[in-house]
Amino acid sequence: MSTISELKELLAQPRQIFITTHHKPDADALGSSLGLAGYLRKKGHSVTVVTPSDYPSFLAWMPGNDDVVVYEPRKNDAQVREIIGTAEVLFCLDFSCLGRISELGEYVRQAPGTKVLIDHHQEPEQFADLDYSNSKAAATAELVFEVIRDLGDQDLIDTGIGECLYAGIMTDTGSFRHPSTSRNVHLIIAELLNAGINLSDVHRRIYDSHSEERLRFLGFVLKDKLVVLREYNTAYIAITADELRQYHSKTGDTEGLVNFALSIEGIVFAAVFIDRSQAIKISFRSVGDFSVSEFSRRHFEGGGHHNAAGGISHIPLDNTVDRFLSLLPQYQADLVTAPLAVVPP
Ligand code: 5GP
Ligand code: MN
Repeated sequence: MSTISELKELLAQPRQIFITTHHKPDADALGSSLGLAGYLRKKGHSVTVVTPSDYPSFLAWMPGNDDVVVYEPRKNDAQVREIIGTAEVLFCLDFSCLGRISELGEYVRQAPGTKVLIDHHQEPEQFADLDYSNSKAAATAELVFEVIRDLGDQDLIDTGIGECLYAGIMTDTGSFRHPSTSRNVHLIIAELLNAGINLSDVHRRIYDSHSEERLRFLGFVLKDKLVVLREYNTAYIAITADELRQYHSKTGDTEGLVNFALSIEGIVFAAVFIDRSQAIKISFRSVGDFSVSEFSRRHFEGGGHHNAAGGISHIPLDNTVDRFLSLLPQYQADLVTAPLAVVPP
């Protein structure tokens, strides 16, 4: 962990700043990036936010969204390399290893500027010059708030910056229900309310702005695709590329599916497998002691947090699911002894 005075010194004069976050940014990834960007611009820096891929349209309301450069390998590679190569300061937000930002990872690694990591994932890679990671934090947006506050600039957090940060904290805490929802989190939200954020608006823009088609897709998935394995307290969903096409699924439409699987009484481990053509993208969630980040790291080239992690598989969807099923017996003891939801008789 670096000291805040090192960052203060680095930002003491106007800088050319690059901010990036993980592939397929979620509300914490984009919210922490745009919240930080808004603050740095107010301080007189020149800031470019580059995302390694596109992101869901329900995040497009965030102030600063219009200036985001979305990396597209065959389209703006030269422009993005130029931005990274000329940046004096490179902020890496909400990811812990450069492999999570596709081709941008190598460009960032080789960039001459000072790299600053702000993140809350487990097992961070040592690539940054300054590191403000804390795996106990509920969200990267929580850490961005603290960095701005510790720099002595909390008064610069206006409604727009505050709503970006609120979005990140709200989503990464599962709307303030995960164990990561500390006293500190609630105190920060109180400060954001002081800055004038409208939390109902943020909630509605993120959770209640889906297309009708997405809701029908959800209906189909819950009715036909959800598999419950009582002997392992596990539930999973596997979605083919054809099914995604059939429902015109867009970026973000599959987000949150895994939580439905986990919401079943008694289920402690949930997985969603999605055929993204080049690879199978996997989301894992758990409640209690079973570590999905460990499971994902060990078997699916992934990682994340204790109760929320992701991974990838390079074999076909059916084989990926078979592999997953073949792994469960060795975890049966952990899965059945994990604390279950209290069920009234
Ligand atoms: P999600 O299931 O929402 O995509 O991801 C859950 C958590 O795991 C997030 O914190 C995300 O950053 C992390 N995660 C998702 N996919 C991967 C992956 O392939 N590798 C690693 N290391 N972390 C991932
Ligand atoms: Mn996060």
